[in-house]
Amino acid sequence: MLGLMQSQPLLISSLIEFADRHHGDAQIVSRRVEGDIHRYTYRDLARRSRQLANTLDGLGLAMGDRVATLAWNGYRHMEMYFGVSGSGRVLHTVNPRLHPDQVAWIINHAEDRVMCFDLTFLPIIQAVHARCPTVRQWVALCDADRLPADSGIPGLVSYDSWIAGQSDQYAWPEFDENTASSMCYTSGTTGNPKAVLYSHRSTTLHAYAAALPDVMCLSARDSVLPVVPMFHVNAWGIPYSAALTGCKLVFPGPALDGKSLYELMEAEGVTYAAGVPTVWQMLLGHVKPNGLRFSTLRRTVIGGSACPPAMIAAFQDDYGVEVLHAWGMTEMSPLGTLCTLKNKHLELPKDEQMKILQKQGRAIYGVDMRIVGSDGQDQPWDGKSYGDLLVRGPWIVDSYYKGESPLVRDAQGRGWFPTGDVATIDADGFMQITDRSKDVIKSGGEWISSIDIENIAMAHPGVAMAACIGMPHPKWDERPIVAVARRPGAEVSREELLKFYEGKIAKWQIPDDVVFVDSIPLGATGKMLKTRLREQLAGYRLPGL
Ligand code: ADP
Repeated sequence: MLGLMQSQPLLISSLIEFADRHHGDAQIVSRRVEGDIHRYTYRDLARRSRQLANTLDGLGLAMGDRVATLAWNGYRHMEMYFGVSGSGRVLHTVNPRLHPDQVAWIINHAEDRVMCFDLTFLPIIQAVHARCPTVRQWVALCDADRLPADSGIPGLVSYDSWIAGQSDQYAWPEFDENTASSMCYTSGTTGNPKAVLYSHRSTTLHAYAAALPDVMCLSARDSVLPVVPMFHVNAWGIPYSAALTGCKLVFPGPALDGKSLYELMEAEGVTYAAGVPTVWQMLLGHVKPNGLRFSTLRRTVIGGSACPPAMIAAFQDDYGVEVLHAWGMTEMSPLGTLCTLKNKHLELPKDEQMKILQKQGRAIYGVDMRIVGSDGQDQPWDGKSYGDLLVRGPWIVDSYYKGESPLVRDAQGRGWFPTGDVATIDADGFMQITDRSKDVIKSGGEWISSIDIENIAMAHPGVAMAACIGMPHPKWDERPIVAVARRPGAEVSREELLKFYEGKIAKWQIPDDVVFVDSIPLGATGKMLKTRLREQLAGYRLPGL
């Protein structure tokens, strides 16, 4: 027997319609590439998204055609989130930090029909446009008077003139909620990137889940600054959850340095921000030496790579800002777990609470997790046994676009996505990532977590960033070394740092060496690029070998 309730497809257009009707005057503030601050409302966003949808119809784009962006976080990018997907096309956000050859490869693989880009990225477009025959229209995300006269890009138009004159009336079409809505390529540290194709259903369910109190806890009372880029995994779904809650949105545009972020936060009363650890390090690097305080910031979600405990402590103890440690993947839309305490933890001493808050957290409803050993058997949830982390759920990838299904089957035939992470899960369901499986260091038959080693180094006041890698060793297989970028002006020695490890981890886990580097190489999504670091250390030999 079927239930007798209305069946309404979950569509992205319903989010913008809702925001228009119920939060029409809530503000969206953007720092523009031009350098100025732009201010408008969800009502304006909805109106211009409808104009964009009419523009795409006028271009004769079919349902499912890909419309690409190469853009910072800003209001025009947000209009594309709704105008493109809402009208049945697929928004393809391209990561501008990739090499132009990879950008060209991705555009061709996705067969993008339209490419809209911020003027910052004009040089990338100039380098690739001739190699991208599927693109019929190049659009610069700017006002008409900013359009470069001699860009060399055929038929280039400015976004504002492109949508100007279009009707702002548009009846959003209704279609199957499983229709593709947007796509994002993984950053492809090995081989070519893989395309994850999100659907309206996966996106709206993720938007609901992301707004929950134990997840991002977004509300109409918040002023939200997504530093996480809209060009990678839809800025962790914040644009959609924002429309669903009606929070004020503050977009940082291209200015991601600590000073610019801090000033924007203070000027716009930001209560909530989200970003990867490297961004927050820059922010703290500005706030600390200048003796500044956050007057409105209350919570920040930190994820994308392991958040060092020292950073959680700095935000919470020094600035009264709650840190929510989050874990996820492009293949997971991206949120999988978030770390918040349970009721029974509230009476625990602070250091006990802190131990919990360092973990990557509990699964969000909608995400099932398992850890399995090398024999494929489930490992116990005891906080000690580790295994490969597998996940399944309605916003987790089934197959890659033009690619294969990465899923592995369980005894009941259900598909699980292997995350490539190694993790423990404790009895309360708190998951902790030990490592990327390819980064785990195997020493004398035992595993050493590179994240643990990095976290300890990062707690040293002289260390700006640390990356731990395994080096081949004739007796032990591999031994860890830690590459360290010092804080400007800090004088920390190899011996001092090795001593710093004593008593914090077992003796055999202490790195064999410290190598000082100017900076740790970062990838296109702000994560440490250990492959590049290995290349840099190509001639390196462990001490005594
Ligand atoms: P890509 O960079 O290829 O796009 P993702 O952005 O999807 O990849 O990154 C996913 C990976 O990032 C995870 O599998 C995990 O290894 C790492 N990661 C994400 N969040 C965390 C976290 N909080 N702690 C540790 N690792 C994390």
